[in-house]
Amino acid sequence: MNASSATVVVLGSTNWDICMYLPHLPTPGETVGEGRLKTNLGGKGANQAVACHRAGANTTFISCIGDDATGTTVREEFEAIGLNTSAVATLSNTTTGTACIFIDESAENCIGLTAGANGELTPELVNQHRDTISAADVLLVQLETPIESVLAAAKIAHEAKTKVILNPAPARSLPDELFQYVDVLTPNEGELAQLSGMPTDTEDELNAAAEALIHKGVTNLIVTLGKNGAALFQDQWAVLKQTFAPFVVDAKDTTAAGDTFSGNLAAVIAQTGDYTQAIETAMAAAALSVTREGAIPSIPTREETTEFSK
Ligand code: ADP
Repeated sequence: MNASSATVVVLGSTNWDICMYLPHLPTPGETVGEGRLKTNLGGKGANQAVACHRAGANTTFISCIGDDATGTTVREEFEAIGLNTSAVATLSNTTTGTACIFIDESAENCIGLTAGANGELTPELVNQHRDTISAADVLLVQLETPIESVLAAAKIAHEAKTKVILNPAPARSLPDELFQYVDVLTPNEGELAQLSGMPTDTEDELNAAAEALIHKGVTNLIVTLGKNGAALFQDQWAVLKQTFAPFVVDAKDTTAAGDTFSGNLAAVIAQTGDYTQAIETAMAAAALSVTREGAIPSIPTREETTEFSK
């Protein structure tokens, strides 16, 4: 493996976020004026693909968008970022995944989401990219696209010895079969609680929940702990735990911290195979991202991350 030829396939969602900032959230039947509009590219798949690309890995993004005006805009955004979109499919008769987000003055929000084309990312479509997935060093997946497709991609990767990283967000129950294909699972504390069915409020509870997942067959479990850093649990002769101290920053906006973490983790595992180095780089990139506003605009390049961690 060498840094410049390391390849990552990210498979996941693309969304268009329509954010409207309002004096207060509308109640049923109410129209609230004086809104300020902001639109941006989003979706966990897109965020993580951009993070991985900016971290310097040769990144291919497998995703679906609609043949609507939003799809055209999204493709232009990807091209401006420089992401390889050869595996981003434009599907007819569907819309691009869209989130309508109302945000009030106290940053409370309510969100309406339509999966649109993200829901059409089928196992058949995944199979069309079998060779690309098999040739990659790492496959990175999340849970905003159909679970059958996540499973199909993970199975292809596992058979080809491509390392599989699953960021289990948004949290949902997973088929047991999936665990045997996953090399690295990256839940936050809430997702760990949901996946294990156990509380994670104290350190002892968190350790017990992590052990329960390790016993399901997860070999490397990286729990992200927000401003408290991260912990790596590995299945050796016993469950080994390594904690990673946080970078202390003045956080402005934590949107996409987890996505920045997962994208950087995938890039460095592809580049070096070194988990400790990957977690340290991912934490630095994510800490830097929370000092900046927005999702994709906040995701740093590898040079910025290296400069920040000096
Ligand atoms: P998610 O965004 O998925 O909920 P976390 O909140 O655990 O995930 O954040 C992911 C990673 O981002 C953390 O492990 C940490 O390295 C970094 N991070 C998040 N919030 C902060 C913060 N306030 N200060 C420093 N680093 C942070």
